[in-house]
Amino acid sequence: MSLITKKFYNLFWKNQTCQNLFLLSKEELLDTKTLDVDGKSFRYSLPRIIVSNVEIDESLTIDTIKYRSDNHNLQMQEMITSKMEHFGPILMELFGDKLRDSFERIVNDVKDNPLIFGLTILGIFYDKHNRESIIIENLKNYGFISHHLNSFTEIAEFTKGKLLVRKNNPILTEKNIETFLEVVKVIKELYVNLVYKALYETNQILVNSLNSEDNFKSRTKLFHYLYESGIISASMEDAYVDCTHCEPGTYRGVFQLKLDPNKLKNLKCPICAKKVKYFVPYDLHKDIYEIIREKDGLLQHALLNLLSTKDIGYKTNQLFLDDIEVDCIFDKRKEESVFVETKMYKINTTKDKLKSKLKKHFCKLSEDIHRIKGVSEHSQKLIIPILLVNIIDEEFLQEVEKEIKEIKEDQISQSIRILNITTFRSEMSL
Ligand SMILES: [Zn+2]
Repeated sequence: MSLITKKFYNLFWKNQTCQNLFLLSKEELLDTKTLDVDGKSFRYSLPRIIVSNVEIDESLTIDTIKYRSDNHNLQMQEMITSKMEHFGPILMELFGDKLRDSFERIVNDVKDNPLIFGLTILGIFYDKHNRESIIIENLKNYGFISHHLNSFTEIAEFTKGKLLVRKNNPILTEKNIETFLEVVKVIKELYVNLVYKALYETNQILVNSLNSEDNFKSRTKLFHYLYESGIISASMEDAYVDCTHCEPGTYRGVFQLKLDPNKLKNLKCPICAKKVKYFVPYDLHKDIYEIIREKDGLLQHALLNLLSTKDIGYKTNQLFLDDIEVDCIFDKRKEESVFVETKMYKINTTKDKLKSKLKKHFCKLSEDIHRIKGVSEHSQKLIIPILLVNIIDEEFLQEVEKEIKEIKEDQISQSIRILNITTFRSEMSL
């Protein structure tokens, strides 16, 4: 086990807020995006956690920021349309028909192979280190720039050269150059809004409101501990800040921040001196990211960590009768085996949905144990079946267990327990 994983579990077992946060499903914990290609959607989770002081129940604040962002986008679209009337002829003059061919090739590629094109665009957004080389490679592929140009600086120099050669061209008036610079600024503004939208649209922002057990203070403290131990670190990606107390556009922007999450509260608006709203991305250490991405997620991994620290031997993913797989088996006493089925659920859903999932998995576990007991070598063994889940609400788990047991009266169903990691520890005296 790596040093960072050891540090993580040291914090995890001592800090309830840490357990509550990291036992969320990976889509809820991490910055997760959905990519739609041909009507099919793919979800992918990045090794990134976004820390924000915008609570999801602060609907006024979040809507204010959303509307401001929408309004700003609309204004800029208007501006781009009007500026392009000036800007278009400059582009055509500089690049002529070559440009039209390149655009046609893009349009065809999007039509023929949307997935490849989508992945290229994603690469540009999320691979900050290689962003410049990916963009340049693609500009070359589509014939926008010639093959001898290898950096943004070289492109700028080359374009400037082209502009200078045609000094006497009537299109290159001061007015047009001014327009060109304005368009460049609008593109930058669009980027600001794009970053912001990506931040507030990530489902991961919900972390703030998911657990009523945790308050904002306990979570801020947790992020501070995580940062100090190197489990999360400042991200190369930009943060977004907006002062909702001031008039729109007074103090907003995206920039890089390298800051202990504990100090985010010091971010104040220089105009009104009140606290700003922020969305700040932090990178999650790859060792912890890999654990979260495992099939049974952090819950299974934490269970094994707990058993190891108590020197209890265990077996994982044991196969019975060709089609039954038990996540973890360990002996409590001689001739008494605990069979654990771990399940990670998306917590941000209705209690009814969670209840129906719990019932389904309870019944599946009951059937599996029946079949395993039917095989002679296991028939005499005492099996304690446990459905281990990532739901924090103990009362709710007890209520569901009671409801099922009122209907399913067979001995095996009656012996099944639905536990979370906290109740598992106390029931098993670990
Ligand atoms: Zn302000």
